[in-house]
Amino acid sequence: MDSGGLAGMGRESVMGSITLKAVEKWFGEAQVIKGIDLDIQEGEFVVFVGPSGCGKSTLLRMIGGLEDISRGALEIGGRDVTDHPPSKRGLTMVFQSYALYPHLTVAENMGFSLKVAGVAKDEIARQVGAAAEILKLTDYLERRPKDLSGGQRQRVAIGRSIVRDPTAFLFDEPLSNLDAALRVEMRYEIAKLHQNLKRTMIYVTHDQVEAMTLADRIVVLEYGHIAQVGTPRALYEKPENLFVAQFIGSPK
Ligand code: ADP
Ligand code: MG
Repeated sequence: MDSGGLAGMGRESVMGSITLKAVEKWFGEAQVIKGIDLDIQEGEFVVFVGPSGCGKSTLLRMIGGLEDISRGALEIGGRDVTDHPPSKRGLTMVFQSYALYPHLTVAENMGFSLKVAGVAKDEIARQVGAAAEILKLTDYLERRPKDLSGGQRQRVAIGRSIVRDPTAFLFDEPLSNLDAALRVEMRYEIAKLHQNLKRTMIYVTHDQVEAMTLADRIVVLEYGHIAQVGTPRALYEKPENLFVAQFIGSPK
């Protein structure tokens, strides 16, 4: 297990690269993901956008290992991980429902996975402290989730992921339960997190402002296939079709 900590020293430049090769997902007779090829670079921030039901979560869950890949292959850091369980992929998923342990403090919530992994107490405290600093939770470490705001809870959920020092973060609409003002604030926090950690991030949203402001590249999904991939600017200025234009907000 990587115990390099938040600095991520000695990482190879390809560790967090993610490659999808003709990935398909079938639920029984229904084909939900229809052969997706995608190369994500180490450290890149990629946003999946598209209408409800187009397959964003399913694709993300396949990358994270929470859903089997029906056909095709997935590589992380150049290694084929198509059949690897989630724990062997070095990724972490952040969901919209925080699912914090109500009876544990912020520090205990954030350190939980390290404790389970048998990491020494001092090391857990060090990692939690470093993550808390990044997320501005230092003054809240002894509180319980019920005594936090929605935004703080979401930060704790992200903090839980950071301490595991993942090679990549997978976010599935992490801000959709927050009110408008908090969403703006947390969007900014996530952008800063990416700048600080320089880790690969894949972020699912149906919010085009989130997509445009966070993404290095946006992947527009249209019912199981990629409608277009490009920088926010490229999609805005040159949407390939009306479907993309509708999502990015610039008529063709
Ligand atoms: P999105 O996240 O873009 O809203 P999803 O990935 O959740 O879309 O769903 C894509 C499609 O796959 C939808 O039609 C959904 O009903 C279907 N689907 C998702 N999960 C399952 C499942 N476990 N069994 C059957 N169909 C599913
Ligand atoms: Mg979804």
